Amino acid sequence: MARPFGNEVRIFPNKFVFSRALHYLCPSVMATIIYPSPIFGPVRSRRLGISLGINLLPNDGKWCSFDCIYCECGLNGERRPKAPLPTRDEVAAALESQLQHMKDEGQHPDVLTFAGNGEPTLHPDFPAIVDDTVRLRDRFCPEARISVLSNSTQIHRPEIRAALLRTDNPIMKLDTVDANYIRKVDRPQGRYDVDCIIRHLTEMSPGVIIQTMFMAGEGVDNTDDSYVLPWIEALKSIRPRQVMIYTVERETPVPGLEKAAPEILDGIAEKVRQAGFDCSVSY
Ligand code: SF4
Repeated sequence: MARPFGNEVRIFPNKFVFSRALHYLCPSVMATIIYPSPIFGPVRSRRLGISLGINLLPNDGKWCSFDCIYCECGLNGERRPKAPLPTRDEVAAALESQLQHMKDEGQHPDVLTFAGNGEPTLHPDFPAIVDDTVRLRDRFCPEARISVLSNSTQIHRPEIRAALLRTDNPIMKLDTVDANYIRKVDRPQGRYDVDCIIRHLTEMSPGVIIQTMFMAGEGVDNTDDSYVLPWIEALKSIRPRQVMIYTVERETPVPGLEKAAPEILDGIAEKVRQAGFDCSVSY
């Protein structure tokens, strides 16, 4: 699940740089970002504070069960990785090393975030890696929260739901409930049944957080009531702890996508709040 931190400043040892500087990692595709793996950052996020990224995907490309036309990592076909997934042991060792380094430097992460070059729950050892992360968090930075940015495609698997719920913030994608829009914009790479996804998100209530990308552009506008109202009905079934709405922030791999205007996002957020849910907005 890309787009881990929104507008933010990324911290590389002892200095702060704006996130767009990370584009140097993929000079051939300037609009997209491939993150280091298995650990990147820390990153200073206005929303999350100091966040350390945990990327369970390869470090040379993207692997995702969606192929979103707005993905900041680029399109799947353009970013196929050759490197292997990091192993459970490699993730644990790199995380321990970075947490020790931060402790030595007097830095305290506010959040450890599973994010990066694709969908973290695709990693075959995701549940065990969550347990390792909880153990290391408790040892080095017990106040830090653990977040996962996920596209929800693996939550039909009970062990994945259980692992997500062992984290503090399972932040799950639900861009719309319109199957045609999902096919056009999120582009699932296998079978995807939105009713099934909503049912499993409901099983994760009340711990789950829903994240939704709203955008404009010819044929890809999910901001009007024909999309928003059925999506709010789904929220009423899911009963999430929080709803995070956001919009296109950077250049997108498919051209022609536009940001949803701030007043449009504010209007959607107000409807979500009127339905009884906490809602945050990133413009
Ligand atoms: S879910 Fe979409 S935005 Fe997230 S990594 Fe996959 S393709 Fe990219």
